[in-house]
Amino acid sequence: MNEAEITQIQQDDRQYVMHSWAKQAYVRPTVITKAKGIFFWDERDHKCYDMCSQLVYLNVGHRHPKLLEAFKSVGEIPLAAPAFATAPKSQLARKIVKAAPENMAKVFFTNGGADANDHAVKIARMATGRYKIFSRYRSYHGATFGAGNLTGESRRFLVEPGIPGFVKFETPYLYRETLDFESEEAASAFYLNRLHSQILYEGPDQIAAVFLEPVPGSNGVLIPPKGYLEGVRELCSRYGILMICDEVMTGFGRTGKMFAVQHYPFEPDMITFAKGVTSGYSPLGGVILSRDVAEYFDEHIFLTGLTYSGHTVSAQIGCASMDIYQEENLLENARETGGVLAERLKQLKKFRAVGDVRSIGLFAAVELVKDKETKEPLQAYGMDYGKDPSGLMKKFVALLAEKGFYTYSHESSVIIAPPLIITAEQVNEAMNLFETALREFEENVLF
Ligand code: PLP
Repeated sequence: MNEAEITQIQQDDRQYVMHSWAKQAYVRPTVITKAKGIFFWDERDHKCYDMCSQLVYLNVGHRHPKLLEAFKSVGEIPLAAPAFATAPKSQLARKIVKAAPENMAKVFFTNGGADANDHAVKIARMATGRYKIFSRYRSYHGATFGAGNLTGESRRFLVEPGIPGFVKFETPYLYRETLDFESEEAASAFYLNRLHSQILYEGPDQIAAVFLEPVPGSNGVLIPPKGYLEGVRELCSRYGILMICDEVMTGFGRTGKMFAVQHYPFEPDMITFAKGVTSGYSPLGGVILSRDVAEYFDEHIFLTGLTYSGHTVSAQIGCASMDIYQEENLLENARETGGVLAERLKQLKKFRAVGDVRSIGLFAAVELVKDKETKEPLQAYGMDYGKDPSGLMKKFVALLAEKGFYTYSHESSVIIAPPLIITAEQVNEAMNLFETALREFEENVLF
């Protein structure tokens, strides 16, 4: 790509493209000129480790040869509307159900993550005849109107006043909990007790579903305390409420298992997914329904649909992506290199600006603070999404990128979620860059 081409791309972008979550006058997007594996290069030919897999979707890495090959055979299978059966759609649904928890039975395909969650809300309302929907603070479920209402942080304010019947409850966040618990189990009991009380006061027979990200992603990779998710499952079962796990970010190997819920001894009623199913090479999402929920629709109309549900091209790319997970042992790699990452994260605790580190598989967050003792966050939660009055997080993320470590942050947490093909050596190289940036940030900016 020559300089004139790059300039043209940037000019057209500024003139014609609306960018998400941003004041348009200040957007100065980088152009990716080439990419391979865990790396991409920008317009200055600056090489970056893609340490967030773009938006946590490029699980097989950039320009994977087998996926590029899959695109070549795309024209051979005719496009078909959702009412038709196609080989890619059938095969992908089978592969997903076989890889999911044992109680899962069928897949409804959507275009991405937010509409998967919108559909899960509709399915829960249809299957239970109830209308209230519980979801958590410190969650992100997407930007459509329904998913926006599920979302439990400031990005939902854009769609308020919201849909009646959407109720929020707390996510356990032990690093910032002011109470002292003697164990993780005690913390879980505390949060579950609060949830139970909310369920009782909202009227259990009105509640269709409890939605949660098993490990909230954008909001800082908040690992649940021991017994918490099982406890939510128990409360849901007790009151006939459906438990819906949003695995849009955590699904497809990110945490070292195909789905994050498979780390725990419980089964949800529905799982929503997107991103990793195609490694983002083609847009696709969906809802996996348990046998019980799916069977309800044997004799009741499944009153919803999308033009591109089970889109032939995306389903083909999904099949190829799922094959790569297996052939290249990416789940195992996520566990092993995730162990290396966890070790490197532990070592970050020596830095004055590092308050907490959290990880599971190749899914991690580093939470930065101004003061380790008081835990004063580097960027406090803002009512106005993206507000960072001090600009400190922006500065740190820009410094990381300058060193060749590309990622993004949310509030005070820096997200680390590289492609699942990363090697142990590359994790170490990237984390060396992270430490260099952190050292400079502490010396020149923070203290
Ligand atoms: N749910 C979770 C947990 C997510 O992280 C995201 C996006 O980051 C979404 C839903 C929304 O997915 P999409 O942007 O594909 O609509």
